[in-house]
Amino acid sequence: MTIKNLLYSHFIESHFPSLPRLLGKYNSLLEDFIGLFAFPSRDKPELDCLNISVTNTCNANCIFCANRYLKDKREIMSFDLFKKTLDEYLELGGKKEIGLTPTLGDVFVDPGIDKKLDYLKSKEVHCSFYTNALRLDGHIDKIIESTVDHIFIDLADLDTKYDSLVYGISKEASIKRKQTILKFLEKVSSEKANIKVTLSFRPMRKPYEIINDMKKTPLWGYYKKGVFDMNFLQVYDNWGGMIKESDLKGIQTLKRPPKIKRGPCNALYTLSVQPNGDVRLCGCRCLNTLKDELVIGNLNKSSLKEIVSSRKWKKIIRDFRYSPPRVCDNCSFYRAK
Ligand code: SF4
Ligand code: SF4
Repeated sequence: MTIKNLLYSHFIESHFPSLPRLLGKYNSLLEDFIGLFAFPSRDKPELDCLNISVTNTCNANCIFCANRYLKDKREIMSFDLFKKTLDEYLELGGKKEIGLTPTLGDVFVDPGIDKKLDYLKSKEVHCSFYTNALRLDGHIDKIIESTVDHIFIDLADLDTKYDSLVYGISKEASIKRKQTILKFLEKVSSEKANIKVTLSFRPMRKPYEIINDMKKTPLWGYYKKGVFDMNFLQVYDNWGGMIKESDLKGIQTLKRPPKIKRGPCNALYTLSVQPNGDVRLCGCRCLNTLKDELVIGNLNKSSLKEIVSSRKWKKIIRDFRYSPPRVCDNCSFYRAK
């Protein structure tokens, strides 16, 4: 276990919550210090990390998320585009491991996700993703037999009142997702599935209160058996200023954005393919739109090889120090390369 994992472990979160809270809120001071000495580390970015956003549509409305500000048309990636993306990525020698987490959206809103998981399996490509689990039911068997390595299930709380408030969902939806999560864990456990499961809480209550509640449910038994691990997020990103402290509730707080951004952000070395075929640097954050200056091409017009070798990617990395993309200006998710 790394020191970072230890500091953000559920043990520390539940017994010494102020420590990860302070670290999470102010670790950008370290970024600032590193930034003083940062220079572009690689002039020629390489394709070593791919995320395919199968949709930009979400079925929740979390208070800490910029989903409600996205102005783009909501879309689902076609299977043909998904196949083309993966095939061309593998032809270029890409790793047999990709991410499927949408920048904004949930994978299970995509009615064709099972077919896409089948295709990944046929190519022996492994994947991981976050999901709010609101539509996980109906896909459980598919996941068990898939090449999903790690599934992060994000929710706010085990108490329906807080869960529905933070996720902007009905109490019925919150109750159903808890039942679905339990059903999923039962299946992972009984099938001895080789899938890592993490419950990522985005709570407004203190972590120990949630853990105390969990001990009264069958979830605790699965936790003790090692079927899943968990973490708690107290510190949130500002999404370039769209999310304000006043949006958050309870223990939630905003991270201090780094002030010095001299070296290119680490996220600029990741390609994220959007449902409309746009190939965008950074699958992490956006401002109102994903059709911005980080888009370096579109797979409906060019091949991945052409897009990757175009000068646009190189230019964004090279110019970052003096002319960073507008979306990066006030982004608190910045991490120096
Ligand atoms: S955080 Fe995830 S689940 Fe919540 S609104 Fe944003 S995209 Fe949807
Ligand atoms: S600073 Fe923010 S928006 Fe810019 S690349 Fe990094 S994570 Fe993405």
